[in-house]
Parts: sequence; structure tokens; C-alpha cells
Amino acid sequence: MSRMTAAPKTAAQTRAGERRQVRPKSAAPGEFGSYGHITLVLDRLDALYGHDASPPDMYATGEPLDGLILTLLSQNTNDRNRDRAYDALRSILPGWKDVAKAAAEKISAAIKPGGLADIKSARMKAILARLYADFGEYSLSAMKSWPGERVREYLRSLDGIGPKTVACVMVFDLGIPAFPVDTHVARVSRRLGWCPEKTSPEKIQDFLENTVPPERCAGGHLNMIEHGRRACHARNPQCGACAVNDICRFGLTREGEGAA
Ligand code: SF4
Repeated sequence: MSRMTAAPKTAAQTRAGERRQVRPKSAAPGEFGSYGHITLVLDRLDALYGHDASPPDMYATGEPLDGLILTLLSQNTNDRNRDRAYDALRSILPGWKDVAKAAAEKISAAIKPGGLADIKSARMKAILARLYADFGEYSLSAMKSWPGERVREYLRSLDGIGPKTVACVMVFDLGIPAFPVDTHVARVSRRLGWCPEKTSPEKIQDFLENTVPPERCAGGHLNMIEHGRRACHARNPQCGACAVNDICRFGLTREGEGAA
């Protein structure tokens, strides 16, 4: 899950997070998973992929509900099919009020390219009904003035919305520091030695959100996804050519075993 397909986002900038304890910056790598180690890795990945300065988001419209629905559509599919589903939905039902009032079958037909269409359309309608009941409109704009933990708690209470989706909406649509952990971020984090091998994505997310400097969450998330896609593949990681192979627990182990 990422928002990696387009122009730089301009609206959302980071807001001081309530739950983090930011430590002083250090260039020293320290132990695997230490603050110095994590920031050194993020520095190197940013030198390669450059998302720290301007994390992209093609759907940054200023309405966080757009991002929530987009992220809901991204569940269990790739970015391309998510975008096809989202574009098809917006073309036949341009407003969220239109979606709220449409038959579930009509929504399902539009978002079919993204998979799990019946489940996602039911969740979408339930979320829209809840928002209208709570806010009197189909919008999450009221959240722009909320503290981060209140936003997190509310979004988690919505039907079918998990911690990764919440973090995506927070960091990309509300400018609140959060570090979504998808399959790429989880794999790269474990291999780098930031957490034990079987640590859950939710625990990795919690660790990163309490460790990574707030202003580096969006770019760091995108850089790690790109690294997972381009080099740190699930089956055949390209450790020999990797920019962090001298500070990666898995990469150093492979080198010791004579593998590249
Ligand atoms: S050294 Fe290998 S395991 Fe470590 S981040 Fe690079 S590609 Fe992934």
C-alpha cells in the first residue's frame, strides 16, 4: 500500500505527534534497530529514492475521505488495480453522497478491478453512513484539527479499517506523522534487524512511529516500499548490490555465508 504514482503532494505536512518520543539525531549506526541505525538506513534509502523531500500522492485533494476510500480499495490488491477501481467509482458516482445513496451492486460493479468488490462496497457504505451520522456530512475534514490519537481511535472504529489504513490516511491525507507497515516495510524492517523475525506488522508500525522522526515518516515509508520492490525482494533479495548491505543483519549474514 502506497501513494507512489504521481506528483508531489502539497497540502499535508507533518504535525507534531503526541505519542512519539523523538530522540536527538545521530549519524552513528549503533545496534540494529537503534535510533542511529534506523536514521542511517533511512538516509541511504533517501539518497537512492528521494521521497523524504516530497512524498507523492496523486489523490491528495484536501478531503481526507478521498484518501480513506482509496486506501480501503487498496486492500488485497496492487496500486494499479486500486487506481482503476477508484477512478471507475469516481467517474460513475462523483460525490461521496452519490456513493452513499447508490445500490451496493452498482458500487461493486464499478470497483470490481480492485477485487473483493462486494466486501469493499459494503464497508464503504457502512463507513459513509457512520460519517454522516457522526459529522452530518460525507467528509473527514473535521479531523484536520483533531489531535493524532483521537484521529487514530476514530478511524480504527470504522468498519474494516485496520492500523495500516489508519496510518496511510493520517500521514498522507491529514499530515499527522504515522508509519504504515505493509508487506514490504515489514520484510525490510525484519531483515535489517529492526525487530525479531516474527514481529507482527502492527508491532513494527508501533515501533517505527515511536522511533522515526515525525518529518521522515512519509518519505521513509515510501523509500522502504521502493527498496522492497526494487532490491529487497521477498524471494531473492539483491544483497550484493544493496546500498545498506554493510549495516543489514540479513545482508551481513549472507555475506558471511558467501552468498550475494
Ligand atoms: S542487504 Fe539484502 S536483506 Fe538487507 S536490505 Fe539489502 S537487499 Fe534487503
